[in-house]
Amino acid sequence: MNLILLGPPGAGKGTQAKMLEDKFGIAQISTGDMLRAEVKSGSEIGLRAKGIMERGELVPDEVITAMLKARVARPDCAKGFILDGFPRTAPQAASLDSMLKESGLKLDHVIELKVDDAALVGRISGRFSCAKCGVGYHDSFKQPAKAGVCDSCGGTEFSRRADDKAETVAARLEAYHRQTAPLLPYYAGQGKLKAVDGMASMAEVARQIGEILSGKA
Ligand code: AMP
Repeated sequence: MNLILLGPPGAGKGTQAKMLEDKFGIAQISTGDMLRAEVKSGSEIGLRAKGIMERGELVPDEVITAMLKARVARPDCAKGFILDGFPRTAPQAASLDSMLKESGLKLDHVIELKVDDAALVGRISGRFSCAKCGVGYHDSFKQPAKAGVCDSCGGTEFSRRADDKAETVAARLEAYHRQTAPLLPYYAGQGKLKAVDGMASMAEVARQIGEILSGKA
């Protein structure tokens, strides 16, 4: 099963992608996570992407599509993948179409997480995650059960993304509306697009996605 989760930053794509990964054994591919790993390692791609990401702009299409092509060829994608944060532009969507065609694969669903812009700044600016295992938390919505200790791995160090600052969030939202939202009609035209209410609780969003995947919605 091959899926795309589409929606603005902070819509909950990463959270839902992780849940789908656990449930179906298909790989979550987050181009944002991949780029952050490149930045951390100080690679050539990382050096190129760092400033762009800090400004809330999009990394050039050719860098991203080369990265994605290598990623989907890895063995953990054999059962399928969930794209989280890709494609983000029309050329990326076109590259994905040809990549899938060349490999004899198809997209099963494109799921839009619909969220009000007004809610996103608050959602994003409170985010932090465990520095060791990456599990996500939020100042207002999801603190670790024991303050300062990760529920999942017991880690005691946490980090916040450099681009989750309020001023950068505005630029990321602008990039979403200008460059990524036009993909919604593109996938609707292919008959692949379904929407869920991204303002609902995590469990409810997961339920709505489950209905789509089982063909009930
Ligand atoms: P995300 O973690 O998906 O919010 O992505 C964080 C940042 O990484 C974005 O604001 C972009 O600068 C960059 N990025 C991630 N995915 C892409 C993509 N598909 N195309 C271009 N830039 C991307």
